[in-house]
Parts: sequence; structure tokens; C-alpha cells
Amino acid sequence: MATWCGRWSVSWKRVRGHEAQIEAFDRAVHRGRLAHAYLFVGPPGVGKRLFAVELAKSLLCESRRDDGRLEGCDHCPACAQVEAGTHPDFFTASRPPETAEFPISLMRELCQHFSLKAARGRGKVVVIDDADDLNAESANCFLKTLEEPPAGSVLILIGSSTDRQRQTIVSRCQVVRFRPLPSEMVAEVLKANGVDDPTLRERSIQLGGGSPGQALALADPALWEFRRALLAALTRPRFDAVALSKAWMEFVQEAGKESVHQRRRARLTLRLLIDFLRAALAFGLNYGADERVGDDRPLLQAMTNLTNAEQIASLLERCLEADFQIERNVGTALVLEALLDAVADRMTVVETR
Ligand SMILES: [Zn+2]
Repeated sequence: MATWCGRWSVSWKRVRGHEAQIEAFDRAVHRGRLAHAYLFVGPPGVGKRLFAVELAKSLLCESRRDDGRLEGCDHCPACAQVEAGTHPDFFTASRPPETAEFPISLMRELCQHFSLKAARGRGKVVVIDDADDLNAESANCFLKTLEEPPAGSVLILIGSSTDRQRQTIVSRCQVVRFRPLPSEMVAEVLKANGVDDPTLRERSIQLGGGSPGQALALADPALWEFRRALLAALTRPRFDAVALSKAWMEFVQEAGKESVHQRRRARLTLRLLIDFLRAALAFGLNYGADERVGDDRPLLQAMTNLTNAEQIASLLERCLEADFQIERNVGTALVLEALLDAVADRMTVVETR
């Protein structure tokens, strides 16, 4: 099992599983080769943003370690301010939840801050989350800023993959890749966050794909309870699409008043459904699914009795599309309603065969 080796002991210890990246930044700083712009890519929830904050702390810390390691002390005013988000030379920004793109106004503001001299003399660090959503205007503004960066300043873009970025951006940034964490490490994070139920932990880890953030979001008992009800309804020969979409939306709304919370929950429920449909596809085709079937066997059996592989594949596609639409801020209720209508249609087609 890969464990924390203890070489980095203060602020970096919160970052799990990305030691090679920490070492690489340490070497870069000591060789005076720190780049002005980095693009952090990797699955959501693996710790890219946390890494960026710890890196900012290390760079802006005013009480450097005697051994010269790149590490924040976690005690000086600068470290405390970075942590609290109040350091005058540390900026973070992300796409506002109600917009589909990273707005140019926000990027201009960031770039302007970035171009000013550092207030505390240790350079500046700017972190831009949601780099996947930069539009042409925002990307251009960012590129212009990169042409004359103030000394000692670092811009960090955070995205999911290089494929989702503009080539002009990728070519001007050093790409740092963050990989999924081993299951044992994700399990430790879940335990440390009070996820004590071993079954819930196991299922969340399995579905979390090596991302502690995703696994934590999935380790919500209410989600799995809803999954049971949703799948029970969907695997009946007939279901009331209107009533089911209403129940689904009610569950989504219980996540909070703000649409960002509702969208997040809607996407989590879709993720559970997508995972089930994938399992149903494998179950129907009779390969490699046995160890994952477990308690779901009756549901999988019912699903494969009602639909054939082609139809499950098409439902899967429809769910992925719904997920994409919700991510792009299409109204959640509309998307779920349309999805269940499509599911009901496909089920009916099978039934009448
Ligand atoms: Zn410090």
C-alpha cells in the first residue's frame, strides 16, 4: 500500500497520494526553474485544488524552513492568510455556478490583480478552477497576462484533462498530471471523514474511481436509499414517469436551495443509475460482472428481462447526455423529466415485443 512517507511533514501532509508532484515542485524551486503557468489536470476530487493551495502556501510562506524545503510552516501570517483566502497576493477564482463558461469579467479582474506588484514581496499565486470552461475571450486574456508575468508569480489552471483545453493554453503551461488514488488511500480519507459503514464505504470507493472527493460525495446514505427506490421503480414492467420524475426532483431539491447543490445531487444520482446500467449490460451479456452483482442481482435480472443489450446501451447514452446537460446548466427538472420519458418509451417498446 502506498502510504505517506513523512518526508513532507507540515502543510503538505494534507495532500494525499501526489508526492511525486510535490518533489517535482521542490526541485523546480531549488533549481530556479519554477514556471509562470501550470495546468493541473486529473479527475475531479483527487486533490488538485488542495495541492494548489498548499503550493501557494509554500511559495508565499514568510517563515521558510531552515532546510530550504518547499513547504509552508502553517503558522506564519502568510500561511494563515492563504488558508483563509485573505492573502493579498493569493487569488482564486472559479466559474460561477449559474454560468456555463468562465466569464471574461472575472478573468480580467484576476489578470489585473496578477499584473500588479506583489504586496508582500514574495510573488503572487493565482489559481483558476474550472479551466475546462474558459471561453475564447477568457483564454486570450489569460494568454496576454502570461506574456509579461511579474517576477516570482505563478498562475495555476485546474482542469480535468488537456483535451478540454485550448491548444494555445496547453502549449504555454507546464502540465502537471494528477492520477486517481489507490483504494486503500481513498478508504483512509473516508474513515477520517466519519464514513464508518463498511458497505457504504466499499460502494463509494468502487464508484469513486480513485477520487477521494467523489467517494466522499457518494458516501451519503440518502443517495443509496434513493437509488434503491429509483431502481425498484425502473425495473417494474410499467412505471409512472411523471410521478417518478417528481420524486427524483424532490430528492434533488432536498440537497439545498441553491441550484449548484441540486445539480450536484442530480449528477450523483445519475452516476448511480449509469453505474447500474453498465452493470446490467455486463450482467445481460454474462461476463465479468459476477463479483459486482451482490445484492443487486434481482434488480439486474429484472432489468435484463425488460430490456435487451442494445436498449440498455441506448439508455446509458441517454443518461450520459442528461448528465452533460445538467453540467451545462440546463434545468435539472426538465432534464430528468425528459430522461424518464425516454426510459419509459424504451421500456414500453421492449414490453410489447
Ligand atoms: Zn508560513
